[in-house]
Amino acid sequence: MDPDHWIGVDVGGTKVLAVRIAASGDVEQVATRPMPGRTAPESAVEQAIADAAADVSLARPPVALGISAAGLVDAAGENYLFGAHLPWRDAPVRKRLEELTGLPVVLDNDANCAAWAELTAGAARGFDSAVMVTIGTGIGGALVLGGRLVRGAHGLAGEFGHMQAVPGGLACECGLHGCWEQYCSGRALERVTRVALGRHLDGPEVTAMALAGNEVARQAFASIGLWLGVGTAALVSAFDPQVVVVGGGVSAVGDLLLAPARAGLRESLQGTDHRPVPEIVPASLGPEAGAIGAALLARDGRP
Ligand SMILES: [Zn+2]
Repeated sequence: MDPDHWIGVDVGGTKVLAVRIAASGDVEQVATRPMPGRTAPESAVEQAIADAAADVSLARPPVALGISAAGLVDAAGENYLFGAHLPWRDAPVRKRLEELTGLPVVLDNDANCAAWAELTAGAARGFDSAVMVTIGTGIGGALVLGGRLVRGAHGLAGEFGHMQAVPGGLACECGLHGCWEQYCSGRALERVTRVALGRHLDGPEVTAMALAGNEVARQAFASIGLWLGVGTAALVSAFDPQVVVVGGGVSAVGDLLLAPARAGLRESLQGTDHRPVPEIVPASLGPEAGAIGAALLARDGRP
């Protein structure tokens, strides 16, 4: 008998990425389709998702389809509420995609999907309580406690980047001041480097310099790494996870970021001689984590 398969589709600002997984969680096939622009009709996005799902379904008909979407998804996983890079607005995406594909569909935001993937098949495998912090241009996040994703009453939990780190601090794009992501993100990395060097370098350039041994770039990572540890201490105090997984483009530099983060966590957490201090580990599934997690959420009944 043919074993079962699930599809996961990650919907981002520039592309739609589909994976087919086996019951084991192993990825069997990957396909991408271009993302219709932000001003395209909502139905064009749904068709791109259906097409990408079909691309990886031809050889093996799936049991169900999971959707990972960048932006705000309601707690029930029925509606996509809002996102800066996608055209959907308060759209009943789950139901529409069930009608379009004929498959059972689950919907969640990309941070929850990536966290579920890392917990189930990646860096946090074997644990049931984890905090995930994703550092790109800003900070995204997700929380799993006791084997269940914690979405909050409205699906809006995990927006760690806008926790206030410095009262009256740097202005944030969200309209507040002193948000954590102003001190620990790709944007923060660029700012710290610009202040030190007097010229602009983008995140990947700073990363390459740091890996090549440049001291200014290494110090920039040490600065945002320390802030990563300080913010992580607040999350550990609040949620008591077994492990903290750090993903996103900025984390590609590895221990140049994570070593100062581990030091910052120890310095900022109470009672470290008398409690387990969770390890801070790098995410292991890379840019396919959202799609893999969506497929796993479809497999697991969206816990
Ligand atoms: Zn903010």
